[in-house]
Amino acid sequence: MPLRQWDPASKAKVVLEGLKGRSETAICKRHRIKPAEYRRWRKQFLANIARPLESPRPSRSGGSRLLPGMSTKVWEESAKALRVAQELIEALPIPVFFKARDGKHLGANRAWETYFGVNRNTFIGKTVEQLFAHAPEVAARHRAADEDLWRNPGTRSYELAVPVHDGSLRHTLNYKATFAGADGKIAGLIGAIVDITERKRAEQRQAIEHRITRILSESESASAAMPGVLAAICETLGWACGARWSPANAGGFRCEETWSAGDSVVAAFLAASRGTTYQPGQAGFIRRVLGTGEPVWIVDIAAEESFLRGKQAAKAGLRSAFALPIRLGDQVLGALEFFHRDSQQPDQWLLETGVAIGLQIGHFMARTQAERELRQSEARFRSLTGLSSDWYWEQDEEFRLTFMSSRFVERTGIDPAPYIGRRRWDEPALNLTESDWTRHKAQLERHEPFFDFEMEREGPDGNSVWLSVSGEPVFEDRKFRGYRGVGTDITDRKRAQAVLRAAYEELARSNAELQQFAYVASHDLQEPLRMIGSYTQLLERRYGDKLDSDAREFMGFIVDGATRMKQLIEDLLAYSRVGTRGKELRPVSVQAALDRALVNLRSGLESSGVDITQDALPEVNGDDTQLTQLFQNLIGNAIKFRKKDEPLRVHVGAEDAGDEWRFSVSDNGIGIERQYFERIFMVFQRLHTRDEYPGTGIGLAICKKVVDRHRGRIWVESAHGKGSTFIFTLPKIQKGQT
Ligand code: ADP
Repeated sequence: MPLRQWDPASKAKVVLEGLKGRSETAICKRHRIKPAEYRRWRKQFLANIARPLESPRPSRSGGSRLLPGMSTKVWEESAKALRVAQELIEALPIPVFFKARDGKHLGANRAWETYFGVNRNTFIGKTVEQLFAHAPEVAARHRAADEDLWRNPGTRSYELAVPVHDGSLRHTLNYKATFAGADGKIAGLIGAIVDITERKRAEQRQAIEHRITRILSESESASAAMPGVLAAICETLGWACGARWSPANAGGFRCEETWSAGDSVVAAFLAASRGTTYQPGQAGFIRRVLGTGEPVWIVDIAAEESFLRGKQAAKAGLRSAFALPIRLGDQVLGALEFFHRDSQQPDQWLLETGVAIGLQIGHFMARTQAERELRQSEARFRSLTGLSSDWYWEQDEEFRLTFMSSRFVERTGIDPAPYIGRRRWDEPALNLTESDWTRHKAQLERHEPFFDFEMEREGPDGNSVWLSVSGEPVFEDRKFRGYRGVGTDITDRKRAQAVLRAAYEELARSNAELQQFAYVASHDLQEPLRMIGSYTQLLERRYGDKLDSDAREFMGFIVDGATRMKQLIEDLLAYSRVGTRGKELRPVSVQAALDRALVNLRSGLESSGVDITQDALPEVNGDDTQLTQLFQNLIGNAIKFRKKDEPLRVHVGAEDAGDEWRFSVSDNGIGIERQYFERIFMVFQRLHTRDEYPGTGIGLAICKKVVDRHRGRIWVESAHGKGSTFIFTLPKIQKGQT
């Protein structure tokens, strides 16, 4: 490849690429030149540029005074190069300036003028201290670099953050090179400023994001990650301290974690923040961020009225603050705040970077929250499956079994392996017909949940095992993925049910038999009894005078016994008829039943002079004849078991008790001892002799049977010697029941 011929203008352009910030290696590679050559060009360029244009032209005969040994041709070439260089410098988009040995400005290009917002003509003769009047530390740094150059002439470059015309801080890369005067002594320097703010910030942002990403990936929770995150931001950008805030109950907010660079005063300020939960409306700074979801910047915290902690922060030596939201979409999950010791102007880049970081943390928090919830729900699931006697199963889209928890084999003794990959209906179930399966299949195909689907399968020992399964369809992204559910071994329950059903059937049968028996027996017993009665009477009529007094007394016993037996049989018949001859239950008036009972009891009522009071009585679903009987027996007993020396009072009560009515019949009679409360409701159970009180002991047994048939309950409350209250309940008429 032929080597390229380099003219002065091209060389100058190459050198200017370096002034614009391109690295030496990149330039050399691009133009295929050696680093030594490039350095030589640069030196030449800088030397040329510094040389005044008015330098005398060398005479043909002699060499130049300035540059001994330089021929006219060389001089001409060099003057041309100088012009090119000066034109290029003026057009260069980077600020370039010249300074004399005493530090005074000699001139600058247009870019310099724009960069600093200073008129280059009026600035001639001024110093760097005047350029950075508000940032003496910046001026001092430049001054020191210049001093170094004066001591050791040559080229230098260094980075420095400097304030520019709009007050913003720019990162600059400063190239400086000395040039010599006509006397060969150092006359001044040329400086070029490359703005590397973008690069610097990209690097910083990358560094911060890289560090935060690493911290987040290694942390389990926001609280664990946060100190590191705050440190990453503060350390990279030179901010003094930071904190994370999160919303608390009732619209308040709380400081969760803080970070500061080992300053005890700042640490104390942060600790004070950490201690309290702020109520809404109390602190403007964080409230604004949480409320709007936008970052907030405060240049001077001491002057910010709405910032309640501002005074304390200022006391701790902090000047500026900014806060950014932690967000997940539109949701504001919290805020990060940062403080700087120096006054900081709002920095758009930092605000944007902050928003990006806030989103990054928001995603992290959402993820850790989701992970925590997942862990919790897995733990719950484990406890549930571990503690439950049920098993868990899963099916794919084709209803093939894909998973069966170990509880299955533990409970049923059935190995699930042969069932995996098969459908429920691939195995026979002893209790299900073809149409049962068709119905079940159709339900699954409709992707409906199902409950308590019962199957009787053959168990390992040949006995049948009853399984009950429930399942629900699983959808992912609205796509059907199969079923999952639980199963239970209900063999014991099924067996118990079978036993119970058999027992119930047996009971119903024997009960019917018994009723039939009681009825037939008592009915058929009446006939021989009548015979005994009539023939004893006949015997007495015809042979009465032939019998002695003993025989007549014995005959009296026979007649008495037959009469009593007749009574018992009639009572038994009445008792069995409650179950066999009852009328269908329909709405009836309880008042009417009571009235009929009182009519039937008329003679007893008159002789005892009873005082009867009553509550209003409702309608119930009932058998009016039986209800009449019920009242008749209870009030009849009250009359029978009254005190001889006290007027009898009876009260019939009715009370609303929710789903049912609670009726009562109370008297002030002889009362009953507690130990007999249950016995008196049994057939033929009495507490007194017939001589004391007549009766067979069937009355309350009939009452109980009537109330049972009406689906109520009956019991007694009594204080012995003070009276009794018989209470019975009857269900209310339900709506729609007529
Ligand atoms: P009977 O009245 O024919 O004896 P019941 O079955 O009606 O039969 O009553 C059983 C027993 O309960 C009675 O013998 C009596 O001792 C007691 N009893 C029933 N009602 C009352 C009452 N109102 N006061 C006191 N004791 C009663």
